[in-house]
Amino acid sequence: AYVTYAPEMMEFLERTSRWLEFVWKPGYADYYPELPGGSELGSTINVPPIDLRSLGDEEDNLLKPLALAPKGIWLGPKDLRLFYQVRQNWRGKAVLLKLLWRKFRAHVFGDRIAAIGQSLAARLRLAMKERDIPLWLDAPMTELITDVDGGVVGAVIERAGTQLRIGARGVILATGGFDHDMVWRREYLPELEHDWSFGNPVAVGDGIRAGEKVGASTDLLDEAWWFPAMCWPDGRLQFMLNERMMPAQFVVNGAGQRFINEAAPYMDFAHAMIVGHRTGVSHIPCWLITDTRSFHRYVVGGHLPIPKVPGAPVPTGRKVPQAWLDSGVVRCAPTLDELAARIGVPPAELRRTAERFNELARKGHDDDFNRGDSVYDNYYGDPTLPNPNLYPLTTPPYLAFQIILGDLGTSGGLRTDEHARVLRSDDTVIDGLYAVGNTSAAVMGRSYAGAGATIGPAMAFGYIAARHIAGRPGNQDISAVISKDSTHIGGNS
Ligand SMILES: Cc1cc2nc3c(=O)[nH]c(=O)nc-3n(C[C@H](O)[C@H](O)[C@H](O)COP(=O)(O)OP(=O)(O)OC[C@H]3O[C@@H](n4cnc5c(N)ncnc54)[C@H](O)[C@@H]3O)c2cc1C
Repeated sequence: AYVTYAPEMMEFLERTSRWLEFVWKPGYADYYPELPGGSELGSTINVPPIDLRSLGDEEDNLLKPLALAPKGIWLGPKDLRLFYQVRQNWRGKAVLLKLLWRKFRAHVFGDRIAAIGQSLAARLRLAMKERDIPLWLDAPMTELITDVDGGVVGAVIERAGTQLRIGARGVILATGGFDHDMVWRREYLPELEHDWSFGNPVAVGDGIRAGEKVGASTDLLDEAWWFPAMCWPDGRLQFMLNERMMPAQFVVNGAGQRFINEAAPYMDFAHAMIVGHRTGVSHIPCWLITDTRSFHRYVVGGHLPIPKVPGAPVPTGRKVPQAWLDSGVVRCAPTLDELAARIGVPPAELRRTAERFNELARKGHDDDFNRGDSVYDNYYGDPTLPNPNLYPLTTPPYLAFQIILGDLGTSGGLRTDEHARVLRSDDTVIDGLYAVGNTSAAVMGRSYAGAGATIGPAMAFGYIAARHIAGRPGNQDISAVISKDSTHIGGNS
């Protein structure tokens, strides 16, 4: 259903509103390009950037991105990759200039440009306004209303202190996952020590709970859209992505050993952390080991390898920021033995791992984990090297970056069928109830096929569910405060 209806959904949206335009952006490979149907050019679909001023008063309702770029600076997907090559080629330096130009424009002309996910959310909101589709904010759904046969015929919504019973021909649950309900998450995955989710702050599982209460079954509740990350002492999370594709680095567990192709897609990397941790050897956290040469050549932990710029919004210069070292998230030592002591792994084993890694890197092939074999691995690698993902660690002092088990949100939830209808454990359909996005158990299962693997299905199954509801007879029975053909339940844009 996803493969069939995703293109139809995009065509429908493009027909419906002038704000919506979807563009294929080739270049970022699918995460398994070598598998049947996979593509080295990738399947990334994007929307053009947008000036958020077009939202008017609604701009304040748009959830702010977590990784707040300095004011005025915005990055399209390709900009980011080239930006990471700022020391490798002129195109990387050109992106740096482009970013400074954007900052200047924001300062002088007041531009407020947003790209990728923020642009998509803004455009969807504008399309709703254009079509006069009502959206209630601060109006949480608290429970579902059922009829005598157990079918869902509406929902209870709290609005301005009043409980409204709203009748509907169908209810689509789209309240996100349960990213921040740590009790619930640990019940299914005890290895998860902390709330390391980048997910929507209000994703606490309301929709999944409401579905369960009316008899829905669930699946994949131990899963998430895992994303290995760093967590600073103030709780701020930071992605660990391009660093794992950097050539002169490897990641070790508590035994000082490599355990996966470091450049692997984020779900696979995180699964290896979880599975490894269950063996009794610490993998949460694990440590990315690199050297000073890399620190001076590549963007690591958000540090820009350019001469020190006083007042720059991100760390620059040749010295490792003292705040990083003070935090304990980054550790530094003149020898591998001392670094091993600082991160609590056996020194002889770390030395042995480094020797083996360097030997493979010099040879140009990672015989142990095949890092660099997939085009996906190469994306954020160093294009000036024969193997963009391999280079020996040569230059002390050595650095270790702590990696924790971050995620973009949970991916388990209510079981659904190909029409997005919610299922009971005996596979019968709960009439009138639909679930999409992170409220549903992911159509991707325990994997992440490529960019957009969460938002793509969320939008496609939203479309599928709406189409299905449109084909259902109206419901006359319920005494509703407001009766509409279908009720859109959603919070922030
Ligand atoms: C930093 C970051 C980067 C990401 N990058 C990508 C990417 O590049 N590609 C990709 O595919 N995915 C990406 N994701 C993941 C993606 O954003 C989420 O998986 C997706 O937004 C989930 O969509 P959803 O509709 O299920 O939930 P959400 O987007 O969380 O929306 C749920 C909505 O329901 C509302 N709500 C919650 N409870 C209630 C209630 N009781 N009643 C009414 N409303 C309620 C919330 O306010 C919210 O507006 C990223 C996530 C993060 C955090």
